[in-house]
Amino acid sequence: MAQYLAALDQGTTSSRAIVFTPEGRPKATAAFEFTQRYPRPGWVEHDPGDLISSQVKALKRAVSEAGIEAKDIRALGITNQRETTLVWERKSGKPVYNAIVWQCRRTAGYIDWLKEAGHAYFIRERSGLLPDAYFSASKIRWILDELKLQERAEAGELCFGTVDSFLAYNLLEGRPHVTDATNASRTMLFNLEKQDWDDDLLRLFGVPRAMLPEVKDTAGQFGVLCPDILGAPIPVTAMAGDQQAALFGQACFAPGDVKNTYGTGCFMLMNAGDMAPAPEGGLLATTAWRLNGQAMYALEGSVFTAGAAIQWLRDELGIIKDAAESQALAESVPDTQGVYLVPAFTGMGAPHWEMYARGTITGLTRGANKAHLARAALEAIAYQSNDLLRMMAATLGRRPQVMKVDGGATANDFLMQFQADIGDIRVLRPAVRETTALGAALLAGLGVKMFSSPQEAAARWQLEREFVPDMAPGTRKKLITCWERAVKTTLFDASGRREAPCS
Ligand code: ADP
Repeated sequence: MAQYLAALDQGTTSSRAIVFTPEGRPKATAAFEFTQRYPRPGWVEHDPGDLISSQVKALKRAVSEAGIEAKDIRALGITNQRETTLVWERKSGKPVYNAIVWQCRRTAGYIDWLKEAGHAYFIRERSGLLPDAYFSASKIRWILDELKLQERAEAGELCFGTVDSFLAYNLLEGRPHVTDATNASRTMLFNLEKQDWDDDLLRLFGVPRAMLPEVKDTAGQFGVLCPDILGAPIPVTAMAGDQQAALFGQACFAPGDVKNTYGTGCFMLMNAGDMAPAPEGGLLATTAWRLNGQAMYALEGSVFTAGAAIQWLRDELGIIKDAAESQALAESVPDTQGVYLVPAFTGMGAPHWEMYARGTITGLTRGANKAHLARAALEAIAYQSNDLLRMMAATLGRRPQVMKVDGGATANDFLMQFQADIGDIRVLRPAVRETTALGAALLAGLGVKMFSSPQEAAARWQLEREFVPDMAPGTRKKLITCWERAVKTTLFDASGRREAPCS
């Protein structure tokens, strides 16, 4: 009987497909990059055809490399870059414009106008999000305005979808127009508490309901893959945004369970239970997943510059040849000698939320060298993550004992140990680092009733290494105080005032 699970992971720079064994181990992986389009400064687009073709190619390659037949796949899950916006003709399936990628800033002015008009609180209360050009709503508005499509949208001739929805429309039999509750909660049109499109938000953004997909549970029947793709009608039984899929793949099922993904930036999500939380500062509230009609919520926060600070050491300063070298360099000195790097290259995220802040190095002395700087850069990733963690813990009123981690920079043992030390938290690094795809595959297994509960699915989560906190409380307190002073210097610089240096 078919027992393999497969996941499509449609990311920002590549489309991946992974076949998992029944034990949750990757059997074969394939990935294809596609072109990033920058038609103007700050604009980012993808060709919708590229998304489909790269994804289909990856799936075919993964299945062939796994050496299995399509009928051996019990179910398929789809996970995807979130918020990226597509509009297409219902009849022909033809996109009316390129996919407008989450990073695209073209609607920043419109969002500023919304904020100035006093809509920020209302948007946050209903959607859990902060008004920002990232989310889909303003991108839909732009497409309808620029291409003069409002009437056709009202008449139901057009479909809006995030990437999950667009893939389902193109790859599933019968062209279902569907999405799931995690992706819907990134559009800024979705009522987090009611778990349905919000009429007032739709009115604010002028988006007709007629163009919206049906919002389904994260795991369940979405349809079957068109048999001409792999030769068998594989059930598609899960769809989830990438960060939510990773939260599931990390088995963070109980309130307070938290995962942090260390990539270019960091994405931290904490399970917030079955009541929509009211986040403060720069944190967002989002649907973690919805199963059997019951939503689970998460708090979400991000560190804008994490692994990118290590790329900066490599590319701009030239003090390391590759990212992995940062570990040995950092470990060649016992501490940073009071050097702090606040890598606010593109502003600072939660909890400070200061878009105009820029990077700062404090505490330089004549003896400071590249090893101190490399160590300060790695430590900065941990300090920033710890700031997020503390804010989430305060919002939920519970302090987690463990944090699950994934992403490229988790290969760095020094960083992982420092994270454990500074957060006074056990850091768990799993055997399978492809947690996003694993989460989508496990959700698909749940959707096809291969598992009876998330807990049963999660039995497949396996520890690779645990980092146990090993720092004296006094040392931790002093380091955090000094980090906070370095951050203050950065923030005060942004407003033109200076803070005294940390001794
Ligand atoms: P993304 O999905 O954002 O592209 P990845 O999960 O692939 O990110 O991780 C890549 C990032 O991790 C890069 O910014 C890189 O600098 C950083 N990185 C990779 N390996 C290491 C390492 N050993 N130590 C520190 N940073 C690393």
